[in-house]
This record gives sequence, structure tokens and C-alpha cells, in this order.
Amino acid sequence: MKLVLATSNKGKVREIKALCEDFEVIPYSEIIDEFEIVEDGDDFKSNALIKARAVFKALNDDDVVVFADDSGISVDVLDGEPGIYSARYAGANATDKDNLYKLISDIKAKNVNSSPAHYTAAIAIVTKEAEYTVHGWMYGEAITKALGDGGFGYDPMFIPLGYDKTLAELDDEVKKRISHRAKALSLAKIILQSL
Ligand code: IMP
Repeated sequence: MKLVLATSNKGKVREIKALCEDFEVIPYSEIIDEFEIVEDGDDFKSNALIKARAVFKALNDDDVVVFADDSGISVDVLDGEPGIYSARYAGANATDKDNLYKLISDIKAKNVNSSPAHYTAAIAIVTKEAEYTVHGWMYGEAITKALGDGGFGYDPMFIPLGYDKTLAELDDEVKKRISHRAKALSLAKIILQSL
């Protein structure tokens, strides 16, 4: 089955390809020109559906299965921020590094060195016949240092529950097992196999 991904985020594409070895996974930007999708939903699920529907419509191919991931990190000491705004926390054109250092500085501004935090991933699957959504979460601690160079995004400042290293220091195999995305994907695969 050909799965078209409604993202061009390199970190996500790499992880989804590694976790979906049974499927041919193609980022939509390899089929059509990339276009701006306004993610104005109120939660991860709505934004994942917005992306998957937009790409399904643009591809104009009834046989295609489109798959979108909307994800982010929520920090308790910041009342759940940045949440759905994780990709643009430091501004519309922010890089992963800009967002990471803004989050570190916002946590420090609360006079703490760490805070409980969690990642959420919502996955939407859109086909001609139906739409599906699933979620996955990973809990841990957001720290006020950037350690390690693996992963992407906020991984250098996130220590998963039960570990003493950040996701960017841990082996890729660990994230592949315990991540929010891996958990959502294991549910998404059940849906994909039923199509
Ligand atoms: P989206 O593309 O709108 O879903 O934005 C997701 C943003 O959340 C990314 O740009 C990252 O900053 C962050 N994010 C989501 N998942 C992860 C992850 O697994 N590791 C690190 N950062 C992540």
C-alpha cells in the first residue's frame, strides 16, 4: 500500500519511515509541490485532520491513503505550552533550535530547572471512504539544558520517564519503542491493515 505523508518535516519523515517498514511511505512533496496548510484547529487531532484532508484533496487521486501527524510538547510549569504551537513557538519562521532555546528560557523564567512534560502525537488517516484518528503520548521531564545531538525538535531537553538521559542522547531504538509517535503508529497500523 502506498502511504502519502502530509508532512515534509525531515525528523518526522525519518521516524515514520523507520516505524512503517511494511508500507511504501512517500512525503507528499515528492509528488506535488509543497503548499502552505493553515493549521488553525484547537487540538492535535483537528490539526492532523486538517493536514491529511488538505493533502488528500490536492493529490486528487481516489486510490491514495494520506497520513498526517500533528505533534508537540506540553510543559506543566507553562500550563501545557507550547502544545499545538510547538512548531512555531519562537515565531512563524522559527527553526527547531530557536524553539528549543525559547522553551528552555521560558522554563528557567519560572525559577525551576525542570518540569514534568509530555509529548502528544495525533495521527489522521484519510482515504476516499473514511477518516480515522489515533493518539499516542510519552511522559517525562523537560530540563533547562540541551544535551545530545540525536532525534529532532525538543529531544535534547526531554528525559523520558524511567531514563536518565535525554531523547537526543539515547539510542534511536529507545525512541522507536517508547515515543508518542511510535504508540500512535502502532494503532494506525491496525487501521491501515484493515483498509
Ligand atoms: P507539527 O509539524 O505542526 O506537528 O509540529 C510538531 C513540532 O513539535 C515539531 O516541529 C517539533 O518541534 C515538536 N515535536 C513533535 N514531535 C517531536 C519529537 O518526537 N521530538 C521532538 N520534537 C517534536
